[in-house]
Amino acid sequence: MDEKKFIHIDMDSFFVSVELLDAPHLQSQPVAVGGSAAERGVISTANYIAREYGVKSGMATATAHRLCPNLVLLPTRFDAYEAVTKKLDAIFRRYTDKIEFLSLDEASLDVTGQPHCNGSATYMAAHIRAAIERELALTASAGVAPLRYLAKIASEVNKPNGLFVITPQNVRNFLDDLDVRKIPGVGPKTYSVLENLGCRLCSDVTEEKIPFLMHYLGVHGFYVWERCQGIEEHEEKVSDIKSLGVERTLPSDCTDFETCLEELGSLFKSLDDKISDACEDDNTIIKNLVKLKFSDFSISTTEAPATSLCKDTVNSLCRMLWDTRRQGRAVRLIGLSVKVKKKVNDDMQLELPW
Ligand SMILES: [Mg+2]
Repeated sequence: MDEKKFIHIDMDSFFVSVELLDAPHLQSQPVAVGGSAAERGVISTANYIAREYGVKSGMATATAHRLCPNLVLLPTRFDAYEAVTKKLDAIFRRYTDKIEFLSLDEASLDVTGQPHCNGSATYMAAHIRAAIERELALTASAGVAPLRYLAKIASEVNKPNGLFVITPQNVRNFLDDLDVRKIPGVGPKTYSVLENLGCRLCSDVTEEKIPFLMHYLGVHGFYVWERCQGIEEHEEKVSDIKSLGVERTLPSDCTDFETCLEELGSLFKSLDDKISDACEDDNTIIKNLVKLKFSDFSISTTEAPATSLCKDTVNSLCRMLWDTRRQGRAVRLIGLSVKVKKKVNDDMQLELPW
């Protein structure tokens, strides 16, 4: 089996950088994209000059103006950004068709077994960054690693306009000194539990901590432990797992949870029908997943283990996304899906993650 290789590409201050292509005279000024202070808007993206004043994504525009009185504020133009994202996708496709966009400006590429650059993911990442700069006049940061989530973390190390590689030999070293807050899924709530257990670095999250983590955080605690060890959820053979899902773009952007739940209820019915049509006898449901796409086109997904499509599970997943990931944005699309697995003998050997 080929050793897994992932490249994570994250564009540098994407929305602003796209805007500056059309307004080069603003290059040397603090610039941000977002809603106006008069409409109680928030900052979507700020360029690095504005960031020096403390302006950042998610901040109220009024606050941003206070911190940086010279800030040039531009309205968001999602059409323009989406057009660039399509071009990015075309560049990525030269190297792999296994591409997952996390938002308009961030994508995870699985380049395992690809023949380009003699199979070197590091060179592929360098070529991709060069192509983006040459063809789109934009810069991207990239991370390369044998695990998908580590590639994402790596992409932040030399940001902006940088590359960082974690080889399989360096995974343990890299994780040892890593702040646990860098691990996906470790938000303020999880971090306070970890901190109380004396875990600030991944190397503090030892095997002895597992019972405590599971006690306070449930199965999520176990996932966190795995991530701190450099274990990514066992990637099952793709042929054995399939995904069945439905999604709907809402007629208007939604800021009301009840409406969101109603939509989810009707998606539930359609998915339930789809499952009875498509599932064979030797299939078993292993997960429920809910996805929300927000008004800035970023996507959040969450999932829970399940043996059927379960209304309570789905509703609480949606509530979780709504409470923890929405951050005031409206919801424009809801997706609901299940992962279905072909039943296999329990004593079949599990393949190691890589
Ligand atoms: Mg970015």
